[in-house]
Amino acid sequence: MFKNMIKLSNRCKYSDLLLRENCSIGLDMRKKAHHHLCHRCSEYKRMLALSGFILFIFVFSTSSLSEADDKFSEARQDMVQLIEADVLRTSLYINRRALDPKVLDAVGKVPRHEFVPPQVRSSAYENRPLPIGYGQTISQPYIVALMTDLLNLEHHFKVLEVGTGSAYQAAILAELVNKVYTIEIIEPLGRQARGTLKRLNYDNVDVRIGDGYYGWKEAGPFDSIIVTAASSHIPPPLIGQLKPGGKMVIPVGSRFMVQQLLLVEKDSDGKLSTRQILPVRFVPLTGKH
Ligand code: SAM
Repeated sequence: MFKNMIKLSNRCKYSDLLLRENCSIGLDMRKKAHHHLCHRCSEYKRMLALSGFILFIFVFSTSSLSEADDKFSEARQDMVQLIEADVLRTSLYINRRALDPKVLDAVGKVPRHEFVPPQVRSSAYENRPLPIGYGQTISQPYIVALMTDLLNLEHHFKVLEVGTGSAYQAAILAELVNKVYTIEIIEPLGRQARGTLKRLNYDNVDVRIGDGYYGWKEAGPFDSIIVTAASSHIPPPLIGQLKPGGKMVIPVGSRFMVQQLLLVEKDSDGKLSTRQILPVRFVPLTGKH
């Protein structure tokens, strides 16, 4: 349309010149030509008015979008402060008084409101878990940040997540490392997570629908593994897919009871050591294992 407008506008200018300069042209011819050109000019004006209207709608909608985003970005920064306060409160458990600024930057960047259902969007930046459907939850932001921090991620890492859920944790990981693999057992959640990540341009995350207890052998071994559902034990296939020198965080304990968040480290000889971090409450790791 803009191309046509430019063409028309050029033609109009060019025709104006013709009318003014071709004085030898007959009066009738000039009237006809003038009528023809006026018709073109009014077509041009109509297009101009229409494009002005479209421009107005565009400016109006982008300004209201950025206003909404601004509102959320302030809430997101407030949430980061709540996380920092929780870290201080739990510092004796977690053996640190602050998290890696890179992790906090990621939390301050990922739009959590895009990962929750519309009916809980207004609570997206509260420091608590929220329902995401199918009896599942998006984890508390403090826990997401802490579990991420415990992995000491480096940019070149390849990370496996078990329990995609809303894909919020996967997006946080994707901000920090090269490649993320995530597995979700509930098919509609997995599909939805895939869609959300695609919409938000997280191209470095692969989502698989299946039982994460068995890991993702073809994509492994992994520098880090994060399990976001509670298991009665550390799944042996996940231990097998962790690189020497790698770390895994996993909540271990009984279903629907308080569990212990464990940090599992595999040394360069493949020997495991386990540290209890703090009591947590996660939905169970399901499946037929
Ligand atoms: N990380 C998620 C997020 O950021 O929204 C929250 C995870 S939610 C607390 C736990 C998820 O683990 C649920 O979506 C649940 O369906 C999934 N899950 C449970 N057992 C699983 C299994 N065996 N394999 C893969 N996913 C599993």
